[in-house]
Amino acid sequence: MASCTYTVPDKAASGDNFYGAVICNQVYVDYFWNTYGFSGNKAYWDDGWGWDDCCNTSKPLARAFNGCYALTYSASDYLNDSYSAPILNWGRRYVRENIDDLRCFCGDGTAIARSKSGGLVEVYLGFFYSKDVPGRAETLIHESRHQGGKPHDANFPSGSVFGSGKSGADSS
Ligand SMILES: [Zn+2]
Repeated sequence: MASCTYTVPDKAASGDNFYGAVICNQVYVDYFWNTYGFSGNKAYWDDGWGWDDCCNTSKPLARAFNGCYALTYSASDYLNDSYSAPILNWGRRYVRENIDDLRCFCGDGTAIARSKSGGLVEVYLGFFYSKDVPGRAETLIHESRHQGGKPHDANFPSGSVFGSGKSGADSS
């Protein structure tokens, strides 16, 4: 991580203090590591990224785990991740089923994250330090949608209040 420089924004405002108080538990750490694509990618998450300091919410890995916690446990009945339930329930499942490898890089500042082929998602400094905790969960879902074959600027689905079939969905 030697080439990365970053500042840590207010951790109360970003939710990192709130979530950081719960993720520091081996049960959660193991679950997130094995479920959301960290496993097999230690070489990316060590050397300053937090692998050996995974409760430290100033470092990237703990901040990613905070997003994973929000993704996993925000539904009151989080054990129900059926696709017929609301996205708050199945978001965790969709990420689990679509991201095989999650790797961190400094990035060049032009993107928060990028999807690569084969279930690989890269996350960059903005993922950790410009997105708040819910924003990190959102990013994981966004990139999972790319893995699931959905491009930007897809058409709005039938039933959308923005106009069924109209272009411009997810333009940003
Ligand atoms: Zn995208």
